[in-house]
Amino acid sequence: MPTSFYDTLARELGAGGDFARYYVMAHEYGHHIQNLTGLAAQVRSAQAQNPRSANQLQVRMELQADCYAGVWAGKNRNLIEPGDMEEGLRAASAIGDDTLQRRAGRQANPESFTHGTSAQRMEALRRGMESADERVCDAYFEMG
Ligand SMILES: [Zn+2]
Repeated sequence: MPTSFYDTLARELGAGGDFARYYVMAHEYGHHIQNLTGLAAQVRSAQAQNPRSANQLQVRMELQADCYAGVWAGKNRNLIEPGDMEEGLRAASAIGDDTLQRRAGRQANPESFTHGTSAQRMEALRRGMESADERVCDAYFEMG
């Protein structure tokens, strides 16, 4: 995890604070869970079979990782300080694909999204936090 990202998050994207950093780290642990459960391998195989859906599947993976980050926070409410939840949501919003593309001076192009919109990322994090139950994060890969 390059720590320079935390500086970018705080200085350029306006999402500083300790909890913003914990959220980013917990999101990466979320990917670790996806490796352990085999979901990451399943997604990679589905992406190889259907390259046109690759980005969409990637977005689901990223939102599920956000959701897992929220579950971590929800299960550790005793460690959460006032303002932490807002810090996390501000960070989730700051690193949405649409927001990042607009910041870079481009139009938001949904086809190119790989992590989800700001609204989707905030929703995923909030979903995890409020439920504190990792099963709610299955929703990103339920079909139909
Ligand atoms: Zn990720």
